[in-house]
Amino acid sequence: MAARDSRSFLRKEFSDLHLPSLSLNLNVPGYPKSNEIVQRFFLHCLEDLKVYITARQIHLDEKKAILQRDEAGDFYIVPFLTAHHIIPEVKQICEDFEENHAWGRFIDVDITDQSGLPVSSGKSKPCFYCREYPAVECRRLNRHETEDVRAFMFSEMRTYCLQQREITIRRQLSSLALQSILYEISLTPKPGLVDKLDNGVHSDMNYQTFLNSSAAISGYFNDLVKAGSAFGEDDLIKALPVIRNIGLSMEKAMFDSTNQVNTQKGIIFLMGLSLFSTGYIFANGDDFQSEKFRIIVKSICKDLIYRELEKSPRSPATHGEQIYHKFKMAGARGEAENGFPLVFGYGLPELLKSQELNEKVLLRAFLAIAANNNDTNILYRSSADILDQFKALSQTALETGDLIPLTEFCIKQKISPGGSADLLAVSIYIYLLIKQNGNNGLLNFPTLIS
Ligand SMILES: [Zn+2]
Repeated sequence: MAARDSRSFLRKEFSDLHLPSLSLNLNVPGYPKSNEIVQRFFLHCLEDLKVYITARQIHLDEKKAILQRDEAGDFYIVPFLTAHHIIPEVKQICEDFEENHAWGRFIDVDITDQSGLPVSSGKSKPCFYCREYPAVECRRLNRHETEDVRAFMFSEMRTYCLQQREITIRRQLSSLALQSILYEISLTPKPGLVDKLDNGVHSDMNYQTFLNSSAAISGYFNDLVKAGSAFGEDDLIKALPVIRNIGLSMEKAMFDSTNQVNTQKGIIFLMGLSLFSTGYIFANGDDFQSEKFRIIVKSICKDLIYRELEKSPRSPATHGEQIYHKFKMAGARGEAENGFPLVFGYGLPELLKSQELNEKVLLRAFLAIAANNNDTNILYRSSADILDQFKALSQTALETGDLIPLTEFCIKQKISPGGSADLLAVSIYIYLLIKQNGNNGLLNFPTLIS
C-alpha cells in the first residue's frame, strides 16, 4: 500500500503545481509485481509510448519525469508541456496507443488533470487473459488463477522483448553492411576498378552504377539477417539454398538497376553469407566472435568446391566455373568454404591497425588482399602469369605507397581486381562488427533473455 500511496503523492505533487501528468504502469496480478522481463517490457512500452505521443505533437516535460520500481511494480510519471485544454484529446491518443500497441492490453496509461483528477473516457477494457469479459470484472470476481495470468503475461512479454531485440539487430546489421559496401565502392583511387573519379578498365559502369546497385541490393539485407536468426536446422549446409534464394532476388534487383551490368554479383554472395551468419550468431548470443563467425561460414559452405565445381560441372559454365576447370582456383566459393582466409589473414588485420576507417587504411587493406588473392576476375580476362605480376605489383604498392605501376599495369592488361574489392567490403563489415560490439556504437541492442 505504501507504494500506491507514493504514486498518489507523485501525482499530487504535479497537480499542486497545476501540471497535468501522464503515468504508465502494468497490471501484473500477484507478487512480485516486477522481474527482469517485466522491467524490460515496461521500458520498451515506455519508449514506444513516448515516440507515439511525440509523433502526435504532445510534449512531455521529461526533465521532471520519475521512473521508479517498488512493491507496486514499475512506474513512470511525467508532467505535460502541452496546454491544459487538450487533455481529453491526449487521453484519446493514449487510449489509441493502448489499442494499437501489439501488447497494449498489459499497459495502463493514466492521465491526471491539473486539479489532480483522473481523466477517464469511461470505456471498459476487455480482460487480456480470457478476452471475454471486462477486465475489472475478471479482477473483482477473481475469475482466473493468478499464477496462470502471470505465466501468460510473462511469456507474452518475453516474446515481445525478443522480437524487439531481433528487429533492432536486423536494422543495425543491415546498416553496417551497407556502410561497408559504400566505403568499398567509394575508396579512391582503386587500381583497375571503378572509384569516385575513374571507371578503371570498365566502359559499361561508373560510380553511379555502383550506387544504384548498392541501393537496390540493400533492400534485402534485412531478409538475410532474418533468415539467419530464424534458421532452425542443425545442419548449416541447408542454409546455402536459403541464402541463394534471397541472393537470386538481389541479383535481379541489381541487374534491373544497372541496365543489366554485373556490378556486385560477388558481394551479393559474400555479404549474403556474412549477413546470414551474423543473424544466426546474434539469435543465439550477444557477442560477435570472429572464430565463431568463420566456423559458421565454413559449415554453410562445406565441400562447396567439390559439390559445385568438381562433381557436377554445368554447361554453360559461369565465369567462376570456367576458371576453376582451367586454373583450379575456386574464387569466392573457395574463400567462403575456407571461412574467408583473405579477409581474416590480410584485409582485417590491416584495418585493425587503425582506430578509424580512412582512405589510407582502406587502400592498404585492399592492397594486402590483392597481393594474396587468386582473383578469378583477373584470371577470366588474362592468365596465371598476369595474375602473378598483378599480385607482386600490389605487394610493392603496399610497401612503397606508390600506386602508379600497379594502376598502369591494370590499364595495360585490361584487368580489374573485383574479387579483392568484394573481400575488402567483407573485411570492413567484420571490422565494424568488432569495433561496434559492446560499445555504445551502432551495434547496440538489448541482450538475449535466457
Ligand atoms: Zn478474464
